[in-house]
Amino acid sequence: MGSSKLEAKKLEAKKKAEAKKKLEAKKKEEKLTEEEITGFQIDRTNMDRLMNRVCEIVVSYETEGMLQTDLWKKLKLSSRDGSRLALKLERMGMITREKILEKGRWTYKLIIRKTPVSTKSIENAPCLICPVESKCSIDGEISPKTCQYIEDWVFVELKTSKSK
Ligand code: SF4
Repeated sequence: MGSSKLEAKKLEAKKKAEAKKKLEAKKKEEKLTEEEITGFQIDRTNMDRLMNRVCEIVVSYETEGMLQTDLWKKLKLSSRDGSRLALKLERMGMITREKILEKGRWTYKLIIRKTPVSTKSIENAPCLICPVESKCSIDGEISPKTCQYIEDWVFVELKTSKSK
């Protein structure tokens, strides 16, 4: 066998071994079923509130992202609960997890994908307290298209956002 063939074989074997390693690492993580991930709950914890809190913290790191271990420490979560929570948030499309090597150990960096919806923008919207709201529709006689309250509100909102 020529030396170049031998090299090619060696390379092929190396590639196979690497692929096997990757697959095993993936399998380890995928031991959890989809249901276990998406339905993950922590005892006596309001999961919605916790998930909002995680997003709030991660969003403050912007596109830089933060180490998941730092987040678990902040929230006093075990790494088991924390990594399951991260998987759940990833499945929900709220964050992405980026595998990185940190001080010689593999960990994940969490980066926000979706910012939780803030209700700030509709805080003073007239529709929230409108007495004819139930009769209001896009093509109806009472409609946001012709509503004076909406017009006034948008005008004030625009003025205040410009002066900020
Ligand atoms: S658009 Fe105007 S009329 Fe319709 S619900 Fe809002 S405030 Fe009321």
